Amino acid sequence: MTVSDCFAGDYGAARAKFLAAAAAAGATIETIQHPLRGPAGERLYCDVATLGDPRAPRAMVSMSATHGVEGHCGSGAQVAALREGLFRELPAGTRAVMIHAINPYGFAWSRRVTEDNVDLNRNFVDHGAPYPANAPYAELRDAICPSDWSAAAQARTRARLQAYAQAHGPMRLQQAISGGQYGDPLGVFFGGHAPTWSNRTMRRIFAGVGAHATDIAVIDYHTGLGPYGYGEPIAPVAGNDDSFKRACAWIGGNEVTSPDVGTSTSAPLVGVNPTGMREAAPGARLTMIALEYGVRALESTIDAVRADNWLHAHGDLDSPEGRAIKRQIRDTFYGDEPDWKRMIVDRAFDITRRMMAGLTKG
Ligand SMILES: [Zn+2]
Repeated sequence: MTVSDCFAGDYGAARAKFLAAAAAAGATIETIQHPLRGPAGERLYCDVATLGDPRAPRAMVSMSATHGVEGHCGSGAQVAALREGLFRELPAGTRAVMIHAINPYGFAWSRRVTEDNVDLNRNFVDHGAPYPANAPYAELRDAICPSDWSAAAQARTRARLQAYAQAHGPMRLQQAISGGQYGDPLGVFFGGHAPTWSNRTMRRIFAGVGAHATDIAVIDYHTGLGPYGYGEPIAPVAGNDDSFKRACAWIGGNEVTSPDVGTSTSAPLVGVNPTGMREAAPGARLTMIALEYGVRALESTIDAVRADNWLHAHGDLDSPEGRAIKRQIRDTFYGDEPDWKRMIVDRAFDITRRMMAGLTKG
């Protein structure tokens, strides 16, 4: 077996590899069907494989495809862990829970977002309260999400965004675009106006994990930020949060980063996954990192998201331009090269081992 073979070029092949590897490893598998279909009419599922004593007080959780198209990476890491027997190293009193394709619709359709154009990792806000404001997004909205994607429109809107970055700094631009927004349902990084299917499913899964486990470690796999192949362990919590301190103690304070503190390649975000995990498992101590792997340069990554947003809002998926944009976004979030895949798996195993050891230390 090669590491490259653990990765797959589409959702259906990724799921088949995951289910086969989970069955071969002797895992228990729960399958949750999504209400909609993939581009070839295929059914879509989130699958949860568990190994070890279901009543264990500690749980090591991994999750792929929070951002759909980023699932090629997380799925590959999960399949490699199953095939290479990583969880034979599970400490006593610890179970492994692998959540495959929490956003199967986005994975199958090569989108970051869910079926309702929601960024799942901005969806965990109180939808009964006023939404967080993002005035810079509103100001730049027509440049971020133009209704025209001609070469001239791309050049014009890029120039406007670059001018904003020059005036306010590149991280302010990144935060305006990617920090999350709740006023533009057809735009990018939209946090939604209700809990989306993947949000409700994630809560259900974590309520189940938290029914027995009082200590839960989570790796949520992402791609799109940072240097090619490097896995940045991001603590997506407040800078004074105990879970950030624990992640630093377990993994290393020189490696774990915090958008809140300003040490991450990620801008500060609102409505992120750990909020929902904690609400679903209130009796458990949660230590969560987003393991964020780099693929391409930031500007081309943001361009691919903007192009895909334009395509689904205004364009024709079944056109040469539509197919080119779908290839562009997949290639932007999936480093389909042997060296990249090797780096993904080595780092995933390394971080998983450090978190499993951390769980036993408390
Ligand atoms: Zn992501």
